Amino acid sequence: MPKTIIVPDNFTYVPIFLTLSCQLRCSYCINFHGDDLLKGRRMTKDDWINGLNKLQIRPGLPITLQGGEPTIYKHFYDVVNGVDNRIEMELLTNLEIDVDKFCQNIAPGRIKRRQDDYPAIRVSYHHGQSNFKELMARVWELTKRGYSIAVWEVGHPGYIDDVHERQRQATSLGVDYRVKEFLGPWNGKNYGTLGYSDAVNSDKLRHCDCRTSELLIAPDGHIFRCHSDLYSGRLPIGHLLDEEPPKLGEWRYCDVYGKCNSCDIRVQTKPYKAVGHTSVQIKNISEPYADSRQIFNVVNTYGKK
Ligand code: SF4
Ligand code: SF4
Repeated sequence: MPKTIIVPDNFTYVPIFLTLSCQLRCSYCINFHGDDLLKGRRMTKDDWINGLNKLQIRPGLPITLQGGEPTIYKHFYDVVNGVDNRIEMELLTNLEIDVDKFCQNIAPGRIKRRQDDYPAIRVSYHHGQSNFKELMARVWELTKRGYSIAVWEVGHPGYIDDVHERQRQATSLGVDYRVKEFLGPWNGKNYGTLGYSDAVNSDKLRHCDCRTSELLIAPDGHIFRCHSDLYSGRLPIGHLLDEEPPKLGEWRYCDVYGKCNSCDIRVQTKPYKAVGHTSVQIKNISEPYADSRQIFNVVNTYGKK
């Protein structure tokens, strides 16, 4: 009998990266910044189903199927339907799907947050990649058929008027279309609210202790403490199929403060998360120990599996 993985009650997010591949090619996509991300092994459907069914997870905390684009994982529908119904599920997708096939394979109630009405299928519109009209037609069709769904577009300052015009058009079609905060540097200005200074895109590295409130599972089943570690394949804290469950939510030492991912460091604004929440907590931040001359070597070797 495999041991259960008890997800601590203070955890707020359980992203399941079924694959990091995608059929779109957004220029800003982190998944295409390094070959390593796409070469890694993907788990079989049985390993995903057996592994995810080991999760003991509080009501109200869903697992979030994402990627890459999760719907192109070969056994996407098998995994959705193979995971126990006691485990709530949500989906992040670009919705480049066949709507009829999706509806034939997934009942509206399967991908749903049971304790609130926050949309459980969260579609991303990608400027220059998604076909707006076709995407809105698919979203409207799923809305009509009773799925919990909405669209998000990043409010990029370079084309924010276009974003608002798309939102206006979508709303007039009956589609729930939301604008999310742009994070990062643009035209000499830093956008977004980050909980720790010099943690992202820094030219210096520092040591620190870090504790996460998320359980991130990579396509090969390895479990990571943060997005930066997952995308770098650095220091997995366990594997979904390990006999001994990983220790979750502990303080751990880190050598690459400065190369954190904004997903982990940003101050969250989602309505179901506490005001001011960041995915990780960080303490004991040292003085810089590596600058731009050494940073490349450290980041490319530290903790690689
Ligand atoms: S849709 Fe998402 S995963 Fe796909 S290329 Fe664009 S940003 Fe990357
Ligand atoms: S300090 Fe940054 S890179 Fe290190 S574990 Fe925490 S979030 Fe990840």
